[in-house]
Amino acid sequence: MDEDVERLKRRTPLLEYLRHNNWAARPVGRFEYVGLCPLHKESQPSFYVNVRKDVFYCHGCGQGGDLIRFVQLSRGLSFRQSVASLDPEIAPEADHSAVLEEAAAFYQQQLDRCPEALDYLRRRGVHDPALIRELGIGYAPGGTLRRYLTAQGHPFDLLLRLGLINTRGADALYQRIVFPLQQGEHIVNIYGRSIGTAFAHRFLPGGKGGLYAWEKVRNCSEVVLVEGLFDYAVLRQAGFSNVTCSLGTHLNDIQFRQLCEGERTVYLTFDVDRNQSGQRAAEQLAHRLGVHGISARRVLLPEGHDPNSFFVQGGDLHQFQALLEAAQL
Ligand SMILES: [Zn+2]
Repeated sequence: MDEDVERLKRRTPLLEYLRHNNWAARPVGRFEYVGLCPLHKESQPSFYVNVRKDVFYCHGCGQGGDLIRFVQLSRGLSFRQSVASLDPEIAPEADHSAVLEEAAAFYQQQLDRCPEALDYLRRRGVHDPALIRELGIGYAPGGTLRRYLTAQGHPFDLLLRLGLINTRGADALYQRIVFPLQQGEHIVNIYGRSIGTAFAHRFLPGGKGGLYAWEKVRNCSEVVLVEGLFDYAVLRQAGFSNVTCSLGTHLNDIQFRQLCEGERTVYLTFDVDRNQSGQRAAEQLAHRLGVHGISARRVLLPEGHDPNSFFVQGGDLHQFQALLEAAQL
């Protein structure tokens, strides 16, 4: 990795990258350039680039570093994603997320045209139009996405690789409510929940990424963790802002590390099903978090409920708050 990064930086000097992205600067001294900071709003230039050291420093916002650091800050990407976005050999990743973005936007447009999809959302207790828009919730009717994306110039092969269509050329997501899953600014996957019964949910191939909407809660000292996106949506709608979702009771490494990255209390709010699998998963997770110094509390919903059904059947903010307060260590 280190060698790759050095090679990358030699190939793309910081100044060249900035100019390519329309940064206007004037030279000051032999090795320095100054211009307006691309990372914060200012009217007097305080962003300096030293071409000999190949680094930047802004006296306005105090940010500084090398090319990778700049890409991280300006595009909200992780170190690894920044390296990938700069490396032409890994660059196809970039058009992957562009296609997923177009697919998600297409699905979003379909939602309002499909009464059966809106009905389903209402039955699951999700009705706030602002929240639906914020989360990018859409509907995949099936049978129309491939035509749309190929007309936009995306090759069949790419759609197949992304899992948006199957080998026979049919749309992979069919009669499903969809939620785009983002990491940083980029869509990395799409979750689809069937509005019928068979095969309740699925993802596109590839990882589910980190915790859902983690950026919104990463600085919260108390976080409510749920296992499903419909649980997430109703809690947000009820007024809880400190919610995140692991998309299943098994957390991947990225998700687990995110929960551990600061001091906080995590309220594990998994389904309470008859076979106790949600509660067993919560117990194990609480233990693992405890080992990493994170305090975890298990929220006990009434038997047979998940947060979604709790709200759908009339539960409200105060009742849920009471459950959080009664949560077990
Ligand atoms: Zn700045």
